[in-house]
Amino acid sequence: MTDKWTKSRALLARAQNSLAGGVSSPFRAKAPVPLYFEDACGCRARDVDGNEYIDYALAWGPLILGHRHPSMVEAMRRQADRPHIYGAQHELEFQVSERLQQCVPCAERVAFTSSGSEAVQLAWRLARAFTGRNLILKFDGHYHGWLDSVLLSYHPTREQAGDPDHPTIAPASRGQVANAAENIVVAPWNRIDILEEIFHSRGADIAAVITEPVLCNSGGLLPQPGYLEAVHDLCRKHGSLLIFDEVITGFRMSLGGAQQHYGITPDIATFGKALAGGVPLSAIAGRKDIFDLMFGGGVAYGGTFNGNPISMAGAHATLNELARGGGQPLEHANRMGEKLMHGIREAAARHNIPATVSGFGAAFSIHFTQKKELRTYRDTLDDDSQRLARFIVGALDEGLYLLPDGRFYVSTAHGDSDISQTLDAIDRAFAAL
Ligand code: PMP
Repeated sequence: MTDKWTKSRALLARAQNSLAGGVSSPFRAKAPVPLYFEDACGCRARDVDGNEYIDYALAWGPLILGHRHPSMVEAMRRQADRPHIYGAQHELEFQVSERLQQCVPCAERVAFTSSGSEAVQLAWRLARAFTGRNLILKFDGHYHGWLDSVLLSYHPTREQAGDPDHPTIAPASRGQVANAAENIVVAPWNRIDILEEIFHSRGADIAAVITEPVLCNSGGLLPQPGYLEAVHDLCRKHGSLLIFDEVITGFRMSLGGAQQHYGITPDIATFGKALAGGVPLSAIAGRKDIFDLMFGGGVAYGGTFNGNPISMAGAHATLNELARGGGQPLEHANRMGEKLMHGIREAAARHNIPATVSGFGAAFSIHFTQKKELRTYRDTLDDDSQRLARFIVGALDEGLYLLPDGRFYVSTAHGDSDISQTLDAIDRAFAAL
């Protein structure tokens, strides 16, 4: 493979002299070189070396409408000529919260923050205050942001995680406060028997269970039929709250998120990424009696950029566009993604490559594994990570920009011809594996 990324390499070298690591998140420092981009439109992006890609990274999720969707461009232009921030109230805020109320089942009330990590922090604080309990139950392999209190048992090694049925809580960063682990119980996902066991012994101490309703951060694992219902029931029975972390599934799986798709209404849900189509915004939505605690109930909540007009304009434009024609754009994105999932499975079979494609149309992952079905984080530890790394670089060389963990995000901007072109590229990348 010739080096197609010489300019990116040169820019990285320069950036490293001032910008720590040369990138703005270590997640982005990936092989063969962190790419520098100069333009993007729709589902296509071009790097500084002039290489063009069909983009399935979509900025790690936010670009549900693709790059520079006309509605987003128009909203940003309009807002550019108006005040960018008041630090006070303006009408777009409640226009967006009203929109969320209409489409998200749990949204009796909404509160805005800026990042997904903050939204989770607020949801946990509310849950602890509301229940008067301390413990949060999270699942192995689920990601809820990078803050000290939550970055636990994200992607532990087999050794770190210990007993598959009763995982050890694994901090994921040096410098993280060690006692963060004291406030958390970790359970394997999709195992209702184990959850029952934990609730039986510690249920009275559990403030909330938090789950990604589809485990997008460990390869698009789907909940087993009846699992989310059973989690919901257990929470009810023990007076614990149920939090859906819909930072990925929100405005991607359906307009009302995974909660609408599966017909299960959590007490609180967190949103981010796709919510504002590429400008920074996150939100929590949930029960009024819980959210009232922030206003006279003693729960602190803040954020200089909360509800700023730029983010609100982005959300307003995105939600309007996604809701167009009864939600057709999002259905289209999911249909395109399903076509791609199907095509990748066929290509893998043709090339005799053991692979499983898991998730839903607009967010799924490829696993190089002999396992036909992946239910829980542990199942993914048998994935052939070296083959995945080779595939990612091979696909990049063929003009596909993918995330390093084999995740594909699909947007409303991907069309039939993009999918066909992608499948041809994957066919060649598989042949070279
Ligand atoms: N929750 C989930 C499910 C996520 O995927 C992420 C981000 N990948 C977060 C929370 C944290 O969001 P942010 O990066 O905006 O802080």
